[in-house]
Amino acid sequence: MVVILKNNPDEAQLQSLIHWLETKNIQVTQSLGESNHILGLIGDTSRIDMDLIGALDIVDSVRRIQEPYKKANRKFHPDDTVIPVKDTTIGNGELALIAGPGAVENEEQMLQIAQAVKAAGATILRGGAFIGRSSPYSFQGLGKEGLDALVKAGSETGMPVISEIMRISQLDHFKDVDIIQVGARNMKNFDLLKELGKSDKPILLKRGLSATYEELLMSAEYVMSQGNTNVILCERGIRTFETYTTNTFDVSTIPVLKSLSHLPVVADPCHASGRAQLVAPLAAASVAAGADGLMIEVHPDPTHALSDAKQQISPAAFAELAETLKTIRNTVKPQ
Ligand code: PEP
Ligand code: MN
Repeated sequence: MVVILKNNPDEAQLQSLIHWLETKNIQVTQSLGESNHILGLIGDTSRIDMDLIGALDIVDSVRRIQEPYKKANRKFHPDDTVIPVKDTTIGNGELALIAGPGAVENEEQMLQIAQAVKAAGATILRGGAFIGRSSPYSFQGLGKEGLDALVKAGSETGMPVISEIMRISQLDHFKDVDIIQVGARNMKNFDLLKELGKSDKPILLKRGLSATYEELLMSAEYVMSQGNTNVILCERGIRTFETYTTNTFDVSTIPVLKSLSHLPVVADPCHASGRAQLVAPLAAASVAAGADGLMIEVHPDPTHALSDAKQQISPAAFAELAETLKTIRNTVKPQ
């Protein structure tokens, strides 16, 4: 249920309404936007008398929310969520460019890529350290050593960093990581999501291989229900009958999620396609569809990358793409 308040509600009446709701075991969240002040009610609202609340002086209207996701719902929070990450932000209308190698391979490689992507306009540095591979015989990542190299490259180039966590016992290693990524295969690891909900770091949540929009939003809700409302949603392709591409990129995700939710949405055209030559067109489509950012795998020598060799692009290709994307963003403003 949401309670839409009139402008400048009387503070004493507002506090007394919130207190009364809390005595009924209802959790109240407040969203104070530029032109709206909304109370989001979570809990068993079936016995709350809507007419009684609607009749209060400070209340404009009351609506029930049918969707199971509440905190992630745009009806709870009409304004876009803007997530600060060090000196940059995600979701404020600027295009966030997250770039870096699929996997951190060594310190030197990490710094070389960081300098190249920074020069090309990247705003956030990525690098997998704990990486989930389809085969146990594939390179599994450098672990803590990889995270250290990523953090070092980020601080030397002045970029915040993002990396994937596989299980909650790794959390201590992420102290200097700015955004924690939850991989597609962990999208329904609810215990992990709940623990990350207690963290103060933004969480980038990737869509599961066969997850519906509602399932993705419910996973975001798991994080948000624990207090961490800084969640970034990521479309990275889903499993279909097509085998030419690793996954099928679902561009509809972007405008749909942006209408259902206030959370920022980024796209990952590398994992969506598995093919380097498709990264630029899918990235362009994502920006035209209103994405808040992109995550792109960049490697100085893609064919010899230790992971995901076929889907990484060169620093030069990234630099050219970054220019194209900025032009598209300036032409097609998000809805
Ligand atoms: C990744 O970003 O390196 C990754 C493994 O992505 P996904 O979870 O989308 O497969
Ligand atoms: Mn990868």
